[in-house]
Amino acid sequence: MHDQENVKKIKLPQIITVKKFSETLGVSVAKVITELLKNKIIASINEEIDFDTASIIAQDLGFETEEEEREIENKSMTLEKLVEICKKEKEKKESVQSRPPIVTILGHVDHGKTTLLDTIRKTNVAEKEAGGITQHIRAYQVRKKGKSITFVDTPGHEAFSAMRERGVGIADIAILVVAADDGVRPQTKEVAQYLKEKKIPTIVAINKIDKPQSNVVKVKQELSDLGILIEEWGGNVMSAEVSAKQNIGIDDLLERILLLAEIEDFKADYKRDGLAVVLEAHLDPKKGSVATVLIKTGTLKVGQDIVAGNTFGRIRKMEDYAGKNLLIAGPSLPVTILGLNNIPQTNDIVQIINERETLKIMSKEWTDRGLQKRKDLSKEKLYDEINEEKMKKILFILKVDVQGSLEAIEQILSTIKTEEVSLEYVGTGVGNITESDVKIASSSKSVILGFNVVATAVAKRMADDSGVKIKIFSIIYELVEEVKKMMTELLPPNIIRTDFGRLNVLAVFKTGKKDMIIGGRVSEGKAVKGSQIEVKRGEEIIGKGKLSNLQQNKNAAEEVGQGNKCGITFDGNVKIKEGDTLIFYKEEIKKRML
Ligand code: GDP
Repeated sequence: MHDQENVKKIKLPQIITVKKFSETLGVSVAKVITELLKNKIIASINEEIDFDTASIIAQDLGFETEEEEREIENKSMTLEKLVEICKKEKEKKESVQSRPPIVTILGHVDHGKTTLLDTIRKTNVAEKEAGGITQHIRAYQVRKKGKSITFVDTPGHEAFSAMRERGVGIADIAILVVAADDGVRPQTKEVAQYLKEKKIPTIVAINKIDKPQSNVVKVKQELSDLGILIEEWGGNVMSAEVSAKQNIGIDDLLERILLLAEIEDFKADYKRDGLAVVLEAHLDPKKGSVATVLIKTGTLKVGQDIVAGNTFGRIRKMEDYAGKNLLIAGPSLPVTILGLNNIPQTNDIVQIINERETLKIMSKEWTDRGLQKRKDLSKEKLYDEINEEKMKKILFILKVDVQGSLEAIEQILSTIKTEEVSLEYVGTGVGNITESDVKIASSSKSVILGFNVVATAVAKRMADDSGVKIKIFSIIYELVEEVKKMMTELLPPNIIRTDFGRLNVLAVFKTGKKDMIIGGRVSEGKAVKGSQIEVKRGEEIIGKGKLSNLQQNKNAAEEVGQGNKCGITFDGNVKIKEGDTLIFYKEEIKKRML
């Protein structure tokens, strides 16, 4: 054992070379390599070892280790940095391979950008029918001559300005669309200027050539005035004359894109962890957070833990632009992913993180959230309040498969609102339903809801014994519906009263302990056997009862109409007197819906 006083603490990163490691420890490389060998690890001076390995060796050599705080790159990872990383990759020799070019279409409003994007998609992408997670994705890939091209929509002119401000773009190639009947316009100039400044490889698409007013030569002239000299005119900018609407010249345009891509030689590292840009994201009531991302380099795999901006999660499902399920996706591919705990922002960068980092973020989230909860209401206090308060509450424990589901479910449940019933989380967590959940549920009288988890055998038995309800779902929507149902059951019902008629009491024939026989005249509507009775003396309601028996002319009757005399048996505790008024009515209880 090492003397506590002498134990030296060191911080180690996730990955470290043997050389750097020995420097950190201040021991010779030879000694480190020998220690590694003792642990059956063969590593040379420049090889990398991970934290766990380094930690074992360091401890063997008498050090105490701690993992270096690696600021999750994400916070500082920007689109600009990503673009830089991708640029540098081209120079790397190993593991880089050609990747499809990423193309965006720019130009003046109404010159046909959207139509062009649609036409290319329609004629080149065989899409799977609806049902998948992919819907209206603003990015897709087409295949031409055995090669792929990725198209990304840059929606609206505003987005383009924002993109320009940031000084970067996610596209490799820009198609500058100019309508042949309209020529160069202010936004054409603006875009051209930007593309030139940023040296973004550009192809001009002269569109709407089907229109009788089109004047291609004039467009070319105007472009050359802008400093964009097309090949035909001795310059180096490729151009294509097209009609997006009539699908003319599109193949030529695609071929030119491939040619330019070949010249530019876009490459990416297929072996590294994927880095992707969020194109758009939304919350789906059934699937949770749905994010469409464009992989810039590396690969993304289902099951990997990821961060994107302020969100994190695990890739639960991944689809390509055509709705096909993917387990792995590489550079330049737009994919839609499920599993983030929240909605990332456009242009957030998706990065893969390891389990340790995920746990770190999660524990931070939990602590933050835990504190928040405690501030809101302690559990004991919560139970007391429930007993005291009139407001009805549904208490529940929510257990889910991944953090992402939790966020999604909480978000949806928070939208169910009613004044009369509230939802209170006794606890939430990721993982299967265990005995301790059942114990808490039993003492707090809460329901356990599970999403994509199971209850352990012991938990199930305990729940059966203690009468705790466990409900497990695999579709968020169904879980939400169940919660709504539980809430609806607690809603105070709507009581609808219908009045049938009134009777003036003329005589009291018999007064029993709990009933009376009374004679009178129906002054309004009718007397109905079995109806409820309200007894009024003057303006005051003095009691209630029931009409259990009805007679007209000494014969039993079901109803007696206005103006007629009748005898009734009144069940109730009120002592009715001559001159009182009886009101006959019925009450119906209507269930309410949320
Ligand atoms: P964007 O604003 O640049 O996206 O332009 P759109 O694609 O929305 O097109 C604007 C209008 O031009 C629409 O009415 C299109 O139908 C029309 N348009 C687009 N391309 C062509 C074309 O090649 N020929 C003709 N005649 N009309 C076109």
